[in-house]
Amino acid sequence: QPVIVWFRDDLRLSDHPALHEAASRGVPVVGLYVRDEQSPALKPPAARPLGGATRWWLAQSLRALGKSCEAIGGTMVLRTGPAASVIATLAREINASAVFWNDVAQAPHQAVAADVEAALASDERGSQIFPGDLLVEPKAIRNKDNRGLRVFTPFWRRVQGLGDPPKPLPAPKKLTSVSDIAGEAVDDWAFEPVRPDWAGGLRENWTPGEAAAQARLKTFLDDRVRGYTDDRDRPDRDGTSRLSPHLRFGEISPRQLWHTARFTAAEHPRLAGDIDKFLSELGWREFCRHLLFDVPDLAERNLQQHFDAFPWKRDARALKAWQRGLTGYPIVDAGMRELWHSGVMHNRVRMVVASFLVKHLLIDWRAGEQWFWDTLVDADAGSNPANWQWVAGSGADAAPYFRVFNPILQGEKFDPDGAYVRRWVPELAQLPNELIHQPWTATPIELAGAGVDLGKSYPRPIVDHKQGRERALAAHARIRVRD
Ligand code: FAD
Repeated sequence: QPVIVWFRDDLRLSDHPALHEAASRGVPVVGLYVRDEQSPALKPPAARPLGGATRWWLAQSLRALGKSCEAIGGTMVLRTGPAASVIATLAREINASAVFWNDVAQAPHQAVAADVEAALASDERGSQIFPGDLLVEPKAIRNKDNRGLRVFTPFWRRVQGLGDPPKPLPAPKKLTSVSDIAGEAVDDWAFEPVRPDWAGGLRENWTPGEAAAQARLKTFLDDRVRGYTDDRDRPDRDGTSRLSPHLRFGEISPRQLWHTARFTAAEHPRLAGDIDKFLSELGWREFCRHLLFDVPDLAERNLQQHFDAFPWKRDARALKAWQRGLTGYPIVDAGMRELWHSGVMHNRVRMVVASFLVKHLLIDWRAGEQWFWDTLVDADAGSNPANWQWVAGSGADAAPYFRVFNPILQGEKFDPDGAYVRRWVPELAQLPNELIHQPWTATPIELAGAGVDLGKSYPRPIVDHKQGRERALAAHARIRVRD
């Protein structure tokens, strides 16, 4: 009797505990992906539908998974509907003995999984749940009150104290399939934009799928990890792994990253410091996911309640200028345009643009989080709101609100030659380094020499930095909790 393996955010064949177990039983295996926008637990406000960029990624990733599954003799089926009824129906059609899946430690996904389990049980079919894509289960790291930890450093110390996670499992070499199962095609799902086709930049920049994820990890550890500790803050350098969307869709697992990186550190002890730093970034992903496990409405609710009274401004024009990269601050505009074009933004610049929206423009962090949700290929239900709340000051282990990033100094420090700004804001490309992060300080002759018509070819700042900073601090003073 066949076994169904239900894929979710784990679109890979290697280190896939559920698939590994199914394949090792020597029975036919059917891989299934369910497009489920109907289960009540996955509907707003409990969960959000995928944004535009992640839908594009998912389509490519499912095609890649289907191909690699076929290449080892397996079958991958796509179906639409509430997971519990879709899975129970398929199990009946092929008389599957059981359904296996990996846990997704998020309340809506666990609620759907519980429905699936119940539907199978009432049909007298088995189900088995395997470890998901975290280094450590959230339930394993609690404080005395049985709550997850809210401060990163002790959290990460606890994770490391638990020792190495299990070694990654190999991909099955061969699968036995079941023929003639009706399914849908990725194309039917219209996940990719047609008119207008805005995904050109995504295609140019990314190859979704497990093989590309593995290749990226290898390139990173071979060529880029040396110097990561400093380079990771430099948007003008190619100094990070760019693995985030692959991790988001589980095309590679944190266990694989952990063990491959540790192996590299053992072989090249000089890289150990950079590798530790890299793994601690993976620790932030873990921290955000654990937080999400405890706070399912992380994208809605201020973790620090006194922020509920914050006097946010409603300013549709400013929000639009920010979204389009037309704020007049080159580092902010470069980041927002990088995001629109390529579906990601450098981490340092994410912090700068987020701080600018929340503090200089006084716009609610939820508006920025939602824009990122729609435009990032790595948009993650944990990392996105957790980082937004971190920047806004309302979150766990958050940056203090009075820390207002200065977009000019941030640009000068982390993009000292203006290479990043020149790439994404080409209308400023001819300005000399000392003016590129503050074009409004240039003389008319300097502007004319660089072909910049301030206010026309490039906007003047929509808010003055100093005034914006003071206004933000004043707004915060109104809600600050005094102890
Ligand atoms: P690397 O430097 O190579 O890091 C390796 C991995 O560690 C990343 O792939 C990622 O999984 C993890 N990581 C690194 N930094 C963080 C962090 N601060 N928080 C959580 N995980 C981290 N990351 C997302 O994956 N999805 C998001 O939706 C997301 N939204 C963000 C929103 C804001 C406002 C900010 C400030 C950061 C956000 N990040 C998010 C975190 C970070 O910017 C990206 O993970 C990182 O830029 C991805 O690039 P990389 O893979 O080259 O990172």
